[in-house]
Amino acid sequence: MKKITIAIDGYSACGKSTLAKDLANKLGYIFIDSGAMYRSVALYCIQNKLIENNIPDKKKIIDALPSIRLSFKKIDDKNVLFLNGVNVESQIRSNEVASVVSLIAAISEVREKLVHEQQKMGLNGGIIMDGRDIGSVVFPNAELKLFVTASEEIRVKRRFAELQSKGIKSTLDDVRLNLSERDYLDTHRAISPLIQVDDAIVLDNSNLTREEQLEFVLSLI
Ligand code: C5P
Repeated sequence: MKKITIAIDGYSACGKSTLAKDLANKLGYIFIDSGAMYRSVALYCIQNKLIENNIPDKKKIIDALPSIRLSFKKIDDKNVLFLNGVNVESQIRSNEVASVVSLIAAISEVREKLVHEQQKMGLNGGIIMDGRDIGSVVFPNAELKLFVTASEEIRVKRRFAELQSKGIKSTLDDVRLNLSERDYLDTHRAISPLIQVDDAIVLDNSNLTREEQLEFVLSLI
């Protein structure tokens, strides 16, 4: 069967990566979490003091881009992200990274670099990528585009539970604030804002189980 490209976009913490992972397992496709790539660039900026008082030093960040090497490696059947050869999978989920990543993702040179790498990974199809600009910019010709949503309350609870399971301390209020700040920045930035493209199918999974949403998308394919 021909391998297609599946683009999944949507707000923060609405279950895009969970859906993408389930689809990739079922179809034997590659899954790429593009948010992890933006988080890794944000982590690099924190580690190298390229952000001060929540204000990114744009010039220094642009100059540093050639020194940021991202690669995915399969470990225990999971696609793990390496930043300059170091496994950063757990560090990129921290509150500190979450609080600055959308500022870094608004820099056009950062987006150009990551979009270029993402498009290279998708050259042969058989890929499922989730993010904010996948159906609009990275893979505008994807055969299947999904725009995933869920109520704010459900998204806050899901992200809070996810952080707890990873041992990251947070409160429901902190999570709510971070999600709403990121959603605002992601939908209002000048370059590649999160939008629902005309040919995307909307999936509101507020009242769906993980299995139900997988079944729904498989029926579309
Ligand atoms: O998907 P995740 O919540 O991990 O993404 C973290 C952040 O990375 C988003 O809030 C957004 O600012 C940025 N992002 C982006 N474009 C993508 C994926 C993520 O701007 N394709």
